[in-house]
Amino acid sequence: MSDSEDVRNEGFDDALDAIAADEGYFLECSNGHGSLPPRRVCPDCGDVDLSEQPLPESGEIDTYTVTHVATPNFTDDAPYVVAIADFGSVRLTGQLRDVAPEAVETGQVVGVDVETTETTGERLLVFERR
Ligand SMILES: [Zn+2]
Repeated sequence: MSDSEDVRNEGFDDALDAIAADEGYFLECSNGHGSLPPRRVCPDCGDVDLSEQPLPESGEIDTYTVTHVATPNFTDDAPYVVAIADFGSVRLTGQLRDVAPEAVETGQVVGVDVETTETTGERLLVFERR
């Protein structure tokens, strides 16, 4: 049954488009767990009542890893920092730009944007220092 379901492509690409246009959003369940599209069920509690919420403009770096030797898709990007940042009720994973690996600290405030990788030109989430 595909009655009231939205027929547009609710993929991750749509979420990237929205973030690139400064209109980012995330999905929040009725228990306040956040996740990024595409989702039909909350990954934390299984709730199916997900609503789109505007993504906060900035988040804080929660944890990060520095990659010096990259997988083939990211060879030209190395060394780079992949961080998990806390944006209120949703946590995002992205590449940290414009910050030297040795200068990264947890708690740094970052904004999120969409850029392409140096290696393959694929789109990815990036964090930039605010
Ligand atoms: Zn939930």
